[in-house]
Amino acid sequence: MPEVSGAVREALGSVVGTAGIFTDPADLEPHLVDERGAFHGVSPVLLKPASTDEVAAAVRICAEAGVGIVPQGGRTGLCGGTVPVTPGGEVLVSLERLRRIRDLDAQGFTMTCEAGCVLRTLQEAAERAGRLFPLSLAAEGSCTIGGNLATNAGGINVLRYGMARNLTLGLEVILPDGSIWDDLGALRKDNRGYDLKQMFIGAEGTLGIITAATMELFPRPRDVDTAFLAVADPAAALQLFAVAREVAGDMIVAFELNDRQALDMVFRHMDGVRDPFPERHRWYVLLELTAGVDGHARAAGEQILAEALERGLVLDGVRAESLAQRTGLWRLRETVTEAQKHEGRSLKHDISVPVTEVPRFIAEATEAIRAHWPGYRVLAFGHVGDGNIHFNVFGPPGDDGEQLFAEGEAIEDVVFAIADRMRGSFSAEHGIGQLKRRALRQYAPAGSLAMMQALKRTLDPQGIMNPGKVV
Ligand SMILES: Cc1cc2nc3c(=O)[nH]c(=O)nc-3n(C[C@H](O)[C@H](O)[C@H](O)COP(=O)(O)OP(=O)(O)OC[C@H]3O[C@@H](n4cnc5c(N)ncnc54)[C@H](O)[C@@H]3O)c2cc1C
Repeated sequence: MPEVSGAVREALGSVVGTAGIFTDPADLEPHLVDERGAFHGVSPVLLKPASTDEVAAAVRICAEAGVGIVPQGGRTGLCGGTVPVTPGGEVLVSLERLRRIRDLDAQGFTMTCEAGCVLRTLQEAAERAGRLFPLSLAAEGSCTIGGNLATNAGGINVLRYGMARNLTLGLEVILPDGSIWDDLGALRKDNRGYDLKQMFIGAEGTLGIITAATMELFPRPRDVDTAFLAVADPAAALQLFAVAREVAGDMIVAFELNDRQALDMVFRHMDGVRDPFPERHRWYVLLELTAGVDGHARAAGEQILAEALERGLVLDGVRAESLAQRTGLWRLRETVTEAQKHEGRSLKHDISVPVTEVPRFIAEATEAIRAHWPGYRVLAFGHVGDGNIHFNVFGPPGDDGEQLFAEGEAIEDVVFAIADRMRGSFSAEHGIGQLKRRALRQYAPAGSLAMMQALKRTLDPQGIMNPGKVV
């Protein structure tokens, strides 16, 4: 990849104006590291275009010069996707100034927004219009819809509403030659050949830059029932999930599993949390139901609890009687990630397996870690209703992460191989970026990588779109 020359910088500057180009190292620095501080890159120039046309013109200049382009949203991604890999040869393109909601159609339940819109602002805009935009995750105060789409984000409501790709009706994308592909639209049905927009969702900026999207909205629930339930083990949680589905069907929005060690970390490190039960239990489920008719979610919640108690699936349970109690119960789940940071460094694995394999995965992977690395601690929690487990490993007591990270690839291989054997995925939510390219080569289904590479070569023959990521 050639260096970004002075002439290219000048041409880029003439497109975006002085408000849209940055070359001072102090301005660039925050854009050169990733969220976890694991990757650090070098780039001579950062662009902040203000419109789709400016993005397209900038990409055309980069394409003519053959220099790389790294799209950036809120830079909350966890796989090093926003960090350049070719020193001096890649232009950073932040979408943060493209933050207009172009249209919100409350009657049609759709919203067309620009890529730099922060996720929370979209949730709030939908709420003001009496609608729900259900994509929700802990980084929602800073991540952007463009980044959410580029990583096909999931989060806490996937069970009911699906992942980012399921919520997308249309896209506007700048292709690697700088042309604008406008497929924005609010169609629920469209069978004009391949569903091309899905190629760009989850592509992590390697096939083009998303500049706008039409997203689906939903009715706001009028009744919510949230319960925190103690269960004996993941197998009981799975049986409970089946009961909940039989009773409540589509009303289930969240079914989250927490292990006691995760909860202990929360109690050790977070403020404003308390154990809802008098006794310690080994596993917990956070179950949330919503409904459009007053009282329906609560009635379903009561019935689930009654049936589960009768069948011995639940050992103890509390149901939120107020918004404050609901927030308190959610805090027990949502602060696990932050509590872990205080506990020390850990290796994080974000795997998914078919839902019925969740108990077997947790048991086998935990056993394998204990057998190979005695003294290492395992934390398993996550969106069990989606078969998605965060399986995190902490080093032996007293380890500052040195020993743990030295074993990182070996541990990863043990965990990923077990998921793979169950026809699972080593990357349920966070994508590939730079971090998981080795795993993609090893664990992608046969033929997938070759197809991805063929697609990449066809759309981006020069390889300028986010080089060194994914494929
Ligand atoms: C605390 C925390 C909790 C999280 N929880 C979850 C969770 O529960 N579920 C989940 O799925 N994820 C979760 N994530 C990951 C989250 O999905 C991503 O961080 C987020 O979606 C990325 O958005 P962003 O705007 O920050 O993108 P960035 O980090 O800026 O970019 C991510 C990738 O997308 C590319 N990209 C960015 N914008 C565009 C664009 N407009 N066009 C093309 N490519 C682009 C970048 O080049 C990069 O490869 C979490 C992250 C954090 C920090």
